[in-house]
Amino acid sequence: NRAHLAEFAAVLAKARKITVLTGAGVSAESGIPTFRGEGGLWRTWSATELATPEAFRENPSLVWEFYHYRRCIVAKARPNPSHYALAAFEQRCKQEGKNFKLLTQNIDGLHMQAGSTEVVELHGSLWKTRCCHCGDVKENREMPICEALEGKGAPDTTSPDARIPVMQLPRCKLCNGLLRPHVVWFGENLERKILCEVDEALEDCDLLLVAGTSAVVYPAAGYAPLVNALGGVVAEFNIDKTPASRHCNFKFRGPSATTLPEALGIPLDQLPQT
Ligand code: NAD
Repeated sequence: NRAHLAEFAAVLAKARKITVLTGAGVSAESGIPTFRGEGGLWRTWSATELATPEAFRENPSLVWEFYHYRRCIVAKARPNPSHYALAAFEQRCKQEGKNFKLLTQNIDGLHMQAGSTEVVELHGSLWKTRCCHCGDVKENREMPICEALEGKGAPDTTSPDARIPVMQLPRCKLCNGLLRPHVVWFGENLERKILCEVDEALEDCDLLLVAGTSAVVYPAAGYAPLVNALGGVVAEFNIDKTPASRHCNFKFRGPSATTLPEALGIPLDQLPQT
């Protein structure tokens, strides 16, 4: 409502250090399925089967098929007004000499595609690989990432024995080791360097925006309670209530592609057409 928006605008105008946390919901309107919501990826496939180091050790072919499938979906997707509004807002913060950082749990790269530059990819990127042997991390946008994945659609978990031979999966150009997606799987920790960047972004942050995340995956789930406890203002943008809601001073219910531009005062007609 209007009063809520005006109150938020006053907080926004005063804030000197603004941090944003985004999740799969901000990309939902770009046609990328979220994890836990309706049509969520984890309702169709079991996370433990596909996004764990054990799964990759057991069946790297099936895991690569899953990530190839997700790359295909994301390759066709374009940023939506949520991404564009945050990119425009970053520019405004820069002009006003404010400190701005965008922490994202998404691995789709759409924030950068929309023009955001102060981005920390907490869970890695669909567009990067890491060598299991020498640890080399590279950007790789080739589609498909290896010949054997050509023409493959959704992974077939009912016949997981139909495997691509491991030598035909993506290999490291430096040492020929097996490559894996450079993403954080269940049971894995975030990189040290990333955790330091997060600490910096949350320390003395006077406004935290939390958009499109179910706020159940740690450590990101702890950011709203932390900033709130330290006296910062927290604003949530989500279609539903989440466990983080009770730590939020402002709650904007509705699709973030509408609520973010509105609350940040970014006119929709000034954003790129989607
Ligand atoms: P999640 O699926 O658990 O939660 C999505 C949240 O977004 C829900 O709270 C839902 O209510 C909300 N939502 C859905 N549509 C929305 C909309 N239009 N506007 C505003 N909110 C909306 O996702 P999460 O919290 O990001 O879960 C974390 C994990 O999901 C991370 O590990 C992340 O890497 C992964 N993930 C990433 C992508 C991507 O890169 N696009 C996609 C799926 C999952």
